[in-house]
Amino acid sequence: MNNYFVILAAGKSKRFSKNLPKQFFRYKNKEILDHSVDKSLYSKLFKKIIIVSNNLNYLKKKKYPKSITLIRGGKERSDSSLNALKYLKRYKPKNVYIHDAARPNFSLKLLKTISKNLKENKAVVPIVNSRDSIKYKIKNAVLNLDRKKSLLTQTPQAFRFKELYNLAINQKNKVTDEATLFINNNYKVKFISGEYQNHKITFLNDISSPKTFFGLGFDIHRLAKNKKLFLGGAKIPFHSGLKGHSDGDVILHAITDAILGALRRKDIGTYFPNTKKYKNIRSPKILKPVVENLYKSNFSINNLDINLICEQPKVSKYRNKIINSISKLTNLNKDLINLKGKTVEKLGLIGKEKAIACEVIISITKYD
Ligand code: ZN
Repeated sequence: MNNYFVILAAGKSKRFSKNLPKQFFRYKNKEILDHSVDKSLYSKLFKKIIIVSNNLNYLKKKKYPKSITLIRGGKERSDSSLNALKYLKRYKPKNVYIHDAARPNFSLKLLKTISKNLKENKAVVPIVNSRDSIKYKIKNAVLNLDRKKSLLTQTPQAFRFKELYNLAINQKNKVTDEATLFINNNYKVKFISGEYQNHKITFLNDISSPKTFFGLGFDIHRLAKNKKLFLGGAKIPFHSGLKGHSDGDVILHAITDAILGALRRKDIGTYFPNTKKYKNIRSPKILKPVVENLYKSNFSINNLDINLICEQPKVSKYRNKIINSISKLTNLNKDLINLKGKTVEKLGLIGKEKAIACEVIISITKYD
């Protein structure tokens, strides 16, 4: 096992954030760099792991195990890589793997495949095909590249130490990966299938994860004879309807409040006060701008769960009708809406069929 793993973590990440180099940002519960550190340790493939960085004081505080060595990075990526190779020479390694800390998502399986292929080859490089169309510009001409023949190289890349060291020490131009050195010198490179998940983290956006919020809504209205009953925007045949400044649709009011709650934007009364302007307003007109605002702000609804609390009418009879109506009003798939009927053992105003109440919980996720 005369293998060494070099993690290049000296980048200043100009495209990422001004303050903290990206390799130290937290991502999936640990710093980006530590994903690579841990995987190389778990693999048990390496005698030593070398972290090349310009934040050595910071890294020293982390108290890594003894098999990890910290060395200073250079100005460019190729300088850092060369620093590591010069440092490693004293150990007379057989193989060296070079990896960019900005790729925390490679799998242990990929490491093992590289290791297997390295037995027969002097350079093993994971590649994926581009999923975008590629154009190539030469002076004023723009050429189409065949996507199937365009190879995107990833890291870890693994090499026989001796060959890589000799090429690196004699390199004249700065290269962006070690595979380039082998290719420029007409050395054979064994390309293996890389992993799309193993993309390079370049922008802060690459690691920001969507945020989920929950909102709760509750509403109650009195029943009154000779009024139309609206529930969830659907007209329900019943001897009474709900009394209110609007049409008294408890379901739509509770949904509206649940959305406003999840958005942390106060409540329905703030936007639709009991003023002349909103007298007898139909509740879909209350819900609609709130839903539009939700989607415009890049949220999507995960699910909606509703408790309709009343003795009559029976929810089971109108469930589909109500869910269809809510689905249309919210643009939400019917499978994501649940409506439960709940009676109250004839207790209180609701039990005596003088009122209907509703409670709603909603889950929404914000995408950037
Ligand atoms: Zn209401």
